[in-house]
Amino acid sequence: MSHPHPELSVPPELAPGALRVIPLGGLGEVGRNMTVFEYDGRLLIVDCGVLFPEENHPGVDLILPDFEPIRDRLGDVEALVLTHGHEDHIGATPFLLRERGDIPLVGSELTLALLDSKLREHRLKETVHHTVSEGDRIAFGPFDLEFVAVNHSIPDALAVAIRTGAGMVLHTGDFKMDQLPLDGRITDLRAFARLGEEGVDLFLTDSTNAEVPGFTTSEKEISPVLERVFHESRGRLIVACFASHVHRVQQVLDAAVEHGRKVGYVGRSMVRNMAIARDLGYLDVPPGVVVDAKELADLPPERQVLISTGSQGEPLSALSRIAQRNHNFVHIAEGDTVVLASSLIPGNENAVYRVINGLARWGARVVHKGNALVHVSGHASAGELLYCYNIVKPRNVLPVHGEIRHMLANAALARETGVPDEQVVLAEDGIVVDLVDGRARIAGKVECGYVFVDGSSVGDITESDLKDRRILGEEGFISVIVVVDSVTGKVSGGPEIHARGFAEDDATFDEIKQPIIDALDRATSDGVADSYQLQQTVRRVVGRWVSNTHRRRPMIIPVVVEA
Ligand SMILES: [Zn+2]
Ligand SMILES: [Zn+2]
Repeated sequence: MSHPHPELSVPPELAPGALRVIPLGGLGEVGRNMTVFEYDGRLLIVDCGVLFPEENHPGVDLILPDFEPIRDRLGDVEALVLTHGHEDHIGATPFLLRERGDIPLVGSELTLALLDSKLREHRLKETVHHTVSEGDRIAFGPFDLEFVAVNHSIPDALAVAIRTGAGMVLHTGDFKMDQLPLDGRITDLRAFARLGEEGVDLFLTDSTNAEVPGFTTSEKEISPVLERVFHESRGRLIVACFASHVHRVQQVLDAAVEHGRKVGYVGRSMVRNMAIARDLGYLDVPPGVVVDAKELADLPPERQVLISTGSQGEPLSALSRIAQRNHNFVHIAEGDTVVLASSLIPGNENAVYRVINGLARWGARVVHKGNALVHVSGHASAGELLYCYNIVKPRNVLPVHGEIRHMLANAALARETGVPDEQVVLAEDGIVVDLVDGRARIAGKVECGYVFVDGSSVGDITESDLKDRRILGEEGFISVIVVVDSVTGKVSGGPEIHARGFAEDDATFDEIKQPIIDALDRATSDGVADSYQLQQTVRRVVGRWVSNTHRRRPMIIPVVVEA
């Protein structure tokens, strides 16, 4: 197996007739999926998603793939293929389209409909859409695309086969192999077999659950558990799940009908996405069941079901506000039942448990993944991946969509089925893989970091700004203002010291004032006149003192003014 090596440099020019794969996101993290394919000077992009920030990214709204490696080649892009409508696959598309608005967007009906509402929010109007379905074959420049149905935790997901002069690539997108999905639309293994027969030269496979043994439980297994929860509940029911999980919502709707309850959606994305899914026929809503959530509040609690966003404990979501009892019309009460019908994405644990505790404090019973089967994954487990390798019989394998441990586990599965060691390529974001004469190998590396979206700024916030924010958040700051006489070089005013998030009493700093004055006097008598250097002197004196006496490392902002 070839490992990505840190000493890699910029890849050489692509050999004629070869295919290049440039992963810009999603290899090394679960999120911001984006892969660029290059053939004959032209580019094809598969997916363009976001990564959600964690607690070590204070103030960051979203993390995007880095477009820099293709920024001056956007004119060569033939199309952007979107495998399905999850945020980690479509979320960064508006940001890419801001740089070139007419990139053809290719995806299934539901995927493009979900994307469309996002494009409208970003006021992107003149976009080019190509709606495709399983079985369709359509060429964009030298890329001949064929789409294959796959089953996932959102309807209408597609895998894509990409035929070029260099061979065929099969990209699974996100998938699993639920054999009895709610909509009857299974992962088309017959198509996988047919493509395998033709010859899959490079197989990109979803690694998310490669460490999980066996097979992913069927979505339908949740239904009897929901049934029991509905049966046992005497008060109001609130079910939180991902706003794109149409089949999960369908199961809740069906249970509500069964038990004579009415349903209201809470959370903007839930209201919007379920309207799209219903209008396009992906969600079957019997007449009169879904009512406006505010009207629902007028019914007796035992007739209400709220389907809400916020299953990851997002602080501004409907469920978080309900848990803090500051939602404008949902007031959680004794006897209510809350179901968190979702996964717990690593990094969100604290936020989710905070919400669970908040709800429980008001007397609600909370049913979650930890105490009932109310969630199944949307990704193929090891058993399913083995099936795929045996059916497709790929020549080369590139595990995608996962942290390094997931991709390693996926690579091991490929090898177990007989893919030769050297033809299983392990790459991370920025590692360039070339397919030359039927062999995939690492060709080099391009720089691609995290791009942070913060309010209206994109890419302005750097890792060092985030470091400052973490210091401010954890250690507070101290400002020191000193006035130095421009003629004598002596301190003529201050030091005036203020702190925030450090100590409430500014008198704490009295003992360090004289040492600051002494240090400045020494520096000026040594001939230091530059105010930046004088500020560094102040920073050193205060920093050492704070560290020794208070065991703290706050941000220190020295200001030396000459007067
Ligand atoms: Zn994904
Ligand atoms: Zn997905």
